[in-house]
Amino acid sequence: MTPCPKGDHEIPDEDEIGAHCAEHGVTLLWYGPPITPDDLAPAPRSRTPAPAPTTGLPAIEQRPRP
Ligand SMILES: [Zn+2]
Repeated sequence: MTPCPKGDHEIPDEDEIGAHCAEHGVTLLWYGPPITPDDLAPAPRSRTPAPAPTTGLPAIEQRPRP
């Protein structure tokens, strides 16, 4: 069973695709290895740096201060 990230209980509705907690409105979908308690804890900043966007939103324009 998978612990609910929003409550102190295990998610009752779980299958091979994901898990759903109707009580908290939480849906988890499985990607890669099974979720462990470490995955639900806040990740350290240095663990998974966010990838830089390659397309889409324009880059923030930076100007030197006068
Ligand atoms: Zn829940």
